[in-house]
Amino acid sequence: MYDFPPYRPPSESESILIRVVRGCHWNRCTFCGMYKTTKFEPRPLEDIKKDILKARIIFEDRDTAFLGDSDSLIHPDLGEIIRFLYNAFPSLKRVTSYARASTIHRMDEDRLVQLRDSGLTRLHIGLESGDELTLKSIRKGASIDEMIAGGVKARKLGFEVSEYVLSGIGGMERWQEHAIATADALNIIKPDFIRVRTITIIPGTPLHIKMKKGEYKPPDPVTRLKETHLLLSRLKINTIFLSDHVSNYLWDNTTPVYLGIYGHLPDEKSRMLEKLEETISIAEQLSREGRLRDSNDLMKEGVIVL
Ligand code: SF4
Repeated sequence: MYDFPPYRPPSESESILIRVVRGCHWNRCTFCGMYKTTKFEPRPLEDIKKDILKARIIFEDRDTAFLGDSDSLIHPDLGEIIRFLYNAFPSLKRVTSYARASTIHRMDEDRLVQLRDSGLTRLHIGLESGDELTLKSIRKGASIDEMIAGGVKARKLGFEVSEYVLSGIGGMERWQEHAIATADALNIIKPDFIRVRTITIIPGTPLHIKMKKGEYKPPDPVTRLKETHLLLSRLKINTIFLSDHVSNYLWDNTTPVYLGIYGHLPDEKSRMLEKLEETISIAEQLSREGRLRDSNDLMKEGVIVL
């Protein structure tokens, strides 16, 4: 048996996958259904080493690796695991992990430097929103100050930082505050990558229950595009902006009409804003005609899986 991490960023689709911890030790974010049925545990070092040796057969000579599940930084033997991984895969160039900003914020700098020196190169951090009220309402477990401090610290210590933004999470009430505060936070963190995900309501999650009670109203697709436009227009940093997830896509019935925006900032910002403006016009038209569909619609019909 090889214990695969059940989730990884799309950018790690070619990576060697090593499960360092199972589940999420926080596991309280209202929108997240990823690890609800998984009991959290750091995996025993010897089991992880056995998986790494098996991974040599499965993945052969890949040069990137991803460590799962959520927040593997808290594994006490992570440095040894990463060194073992590099020994097993001599061609390895990149090792990445999900990380909570609050964990980075709390962690001793010397320990983070040791992990970096062991070869941990990139951290995928879920900012979700820069809006304090939104962070509280989704029970993210970190204040915006902690979010910023965690991201800034990771950058300062030499990690590549990929920050995830959750489009629509502010709801219809706070989409503008969410966009503006998120841009403000990203302008301070200066991540290497900004990755947008669009809120898809997972049945059974606390957010789904709030929505059913009318306590959360997700923005419609056109409003979400306006939110992304507002966010992007306020970014002042050098970074790579990506929408590399199916949750961002829009469809005319089942034909894709929007696959997200991608580009380097600031050089490609004007082109990306224009693309969003064009898409807003198309989406408004399709919406009037009742043909516009998003990931929530297609997930309910089983056309896509998230
Ligand atoms: S979003 Fe991340 S931190 Fe929050 S519960 Fe899910 S895995 Fe844990």
